[in-house]
Amino acid sequence: EAPGTELGRLSTSLNAMLAHIEVAFQARMASEARMRRFISDASHELRTPLVTIRGFSELYRHGALAKPEDVATAMGRIESEAKRMGAMVEDLLTLARLDEQRPLTLKPLDLLPIGHDAVVDMRATAPDRTVRLVGLDRDTPAPAPTLGDEARIRQVVGNIVGNALQYTPPGSPLEVAVGTRGAGPQAVAVLELRDHGPGIGEKDAAKIFERFYRADSSRTRDTGGTGLGLAIVAAIVGSHHGTVRHHDTPGGGSTFVIELPYVVLPERPAEPPSGAD
Ligand code: ADP
Repeated sequence: EAPGTELGRLSTSLNAMLAHIEVAFQARMASEARMRRFISDASHELRTPLVTIRGFSELYRHGALAKPEDVATAMGRIESEAKRMGAMVEDLLTLARLDEQRPLTLKPLDLLPIGHDAVVDMRATAPDRTVRLVGLDRDTPAPAPTLGDEARIRQVVGNIVGNALQYTPPGSPLEVAVGTRGAGPQAVAVLELRDHGPGIGEKDAAKIFERFYRADSSRTRDTGGTGLGLAIVAAIVGSHHGTVRHHDTPGGGSTFVIELPYVVLPERPAEPPSGAD
C-alpha cells in the first residue's frame, strides 16, 4: 500500500479522534460552568437568610429591641430564616447526591398505589379540598408497569403535591391521574397532578424546573420555599429516563405530567422444585 494512503487514513482517524476529544472537552467545560454557577447561586441563597439572622441578633445584642413584642418578632424571623436554611441544606444535599449519578435501585414500580397514597395524604392534610383519583382520560386507572426507585418517585409526587397545596387557594380541588399513554415500545406510565389554582405564566413555566427559580409572586409573598423542589423533581425523573413537564389545566391551573418508560418485566422463572437433589 502506498504510504500516502496510509497517511491519509491516519490523518482521518486522528481528525475523528480530535473531534471526539473536542466534544468531550466542551461537555466537560459546560458541566463545570453549570457546577460553578450552582455553587455560587447556592452560596447567595444561603447568605440571604444568614444576613437576616445576623441583623436581628445584632439588634438584640445592642439593646435596640426595646419592646417585648419587638423581641418576639425578631425571634420569630430568626426561627423562620433558620428553618429555611435547614430546608435548603437538605435540598442541596439531595441534589448533590443525584448529581453524583450513582445508579438507582430500580425495582418494578406500580404508579397506582403511589397516586392513591398521594390522594389519601392530601385528604388528610387538606380536609377542605376535594381530591380525586381519576383515570388519564375516562378509563379506569391502569398505569403501565415501569421500573423505579419508589422512595424517590414518592418524593417527586410529594414535592409537586406540596406546591399544589401551597400555591393554590384553600378549598380548590385537586386531581391525581394515573394511566398509560401510547402503545407498544413507545408506551409510557403516566402520573399527573392537576390543580385549579392561579397557574404558571408562560415566562415562569419555562424556568420553574431550574435550580433556585421562583416566580416573582412566590418571592414577594415569601411562601418560605427554597426554589429547589421542582429542580429535584426534574433530576429524579431524569435519572429514571423519564420526563416531567407542566401545562395549563383546562379551565385554569397547573398540571404536572410525569412519564416513565414502559418496561416489559421478565416472567419470573419457575421455582425449582424444593427438596430435589
Ligand atoms: P419553591 O416552591 O420552593 O419556591 P419549586 O421549585 O418547588 O420551589 O417551585 C418553583 C416555583 O414554581 C414556585 O416558587 C412557584 O412560583 C411555582 N409553582 C410551583 N408549583 C406551582 C403550582 N402548583 N401553582 C402555581 N405556581 C407553582
